Amino acid sequence: MKRAFYVGRFQPYHLGHHAVLNMIAKEVDELVIGVGSAQKSHEVENPFTAGERIVMIQYALQDMDIQHYTIPIEDIQQNTIWVSHVLSKTPPFDIVYSNNPLVIQLFEEASIKVMRPPIYKRNIYSGTLIRDKMLKGENWQEFVPDSVANFIEEFNGIDRLINISKTD
Ligand code: NAD
Repeated sequence: MKRAFYVGRFQPYHLGHHAVLNMIAKEVDELVIGVGSAQKSHEVENPFTAGERIVMIQYALQDMDIQHYTIPIEDIQQNTIWVSHVLSKTPPFDIVYSNNPLVIQLFEEASIKVMRPPIYKRNIYSGTLIRDKMLKGENWQEFVPDSVANFIEEFNGIDRLINISKTD
């Protein structure tokens, strides 16, 4: 039994994340997905709540035949104890997949093996670019799984993002 850990902010969950998870799912038996910065929402860089991001992941992974657990993980002030913080909240895992340099550094310092998955079309599959398209009224739906786009529209996520980007 091999269980992998993958952490992201998923603001929103997009097709780059999805391609990585599809790839990891072929290499391991179970996935532990950490929803990072779980305390954040209603910010231009972090518009969606942890609960909304958990639903995005749940819907997107519906057709992926792998057992998965999605765990919200709040940020902490001290990077030196972040790995212990993660381990205290997640099911046990054997390996981490990440391309985030800080995440890689912290897990490797804790002697936990890290794999660096390929990056898929970073110039289009990027949370920053997708949120920008949402704000500009451009087509963002094609960069996320259909089920995620439908869910964001269902709870009026774009209206929220546009409203919180305004100044008084
Ligand atoms: P993210 O959603 O931006 O990215 C998640 C993962 O997906 C990363 O490995 C990234 O490289 C990868 N990715 C993004 N686009 C991709 C693409 N097109 N193709 C393939 N892979 C792609 O999330 P993130 O910001 O990397 O998440 C890390 C989380 O860990 C954050 O919430 C951060 O706050 C948290 N963290 C917290 C502490 C602390 O609290 N002290 C310390 C370290 C990390």
